[in-house]
Amino acid sequence: MDGFSSCGKSTIAKGLAKELGYTYIDSGAMYRAVALYAIRKGWLTDSLMDETAITEHLSQIKISFKPNLSGVQETFLNNENVEREIRTLEVANGASRVSTLPAVRTEMVHQQQEMGLKKGVVMDGRDIGTVVFPDAEMKLFLTSSPEIRAKRRYDEMVSKGESPKYEDVLANVKERDLRDTTREISPLKQADDAIVLDNSETGIDEQLQWALKMFNKITGNNEQN
Ligand code: C5P
Repeated sequence: MDGFSSCGKSTIAKGLAKELGYTYIDSGAMYRAVALYAIRKGWLTDSLMDETAITEHLSQIKISFKPNLSGVQETFLNNENVEREIRTLEVANGASRVSTLPAVRTEMVHQQQEMGLKKGVVMDGRDIGTVVFPDAEMKLFLTSSPEIRAKRRYDEMVSKGESPKYEDVLANVKERDLRDTTREISPLKQADDAIVLDNSETGIDEQLQWALKMFNKITGNNEQN
């Protein structure tokens, strides 16, 4: 599943994984974990990105996912639970910057492909249908307007007790869109055989039911059709 930031990808991906008994993998969390590592080391600031240092230390960045007590996957960086820390705007922006580095992409794609070896995976990101799993059984491409996505992200942050400014969140969404769609390697783009879902107007439950129906149709599991 690919698509723009904050367009509800993870909600649908998690819902689909739950319904199908598959494992959900948040590939964006991996780029966020790399960004957090680089920020902590001082290699990624507002004005600097030390590509050499990040590239040379990639082998020391171990990312894994473990389910919490409610069964929700959380992100671990070198065995430390960083699930909360990687969700800030600063790390989101850092992730979109480190994800432009060729060595970072190569390493993350390799790790993601290994996670998918046994199949039974729902993975969301930007290049999943185009680069990571070009032969995926089902490819979904999600989109919605920047304003709606910024509002969704804003509400999510407020519900977590943060107090962002809507304008800052919108600017961040637009900045990441631009970087994600124009970067040289694996820019965000719809795979030729992806099914497009514009969720500006549709509710999450409706989208999930629709995605499940599509999955059953594509995989020949007709019991829900
Ligand atoms: O999906 P999420 O917003 O958490 O991703 C954070 C950043 O990581 C994105 O803005 C994007 O630049 C990058 N990313 C990527 N390829 C992926 C997943 C995320 O480049 N497969």
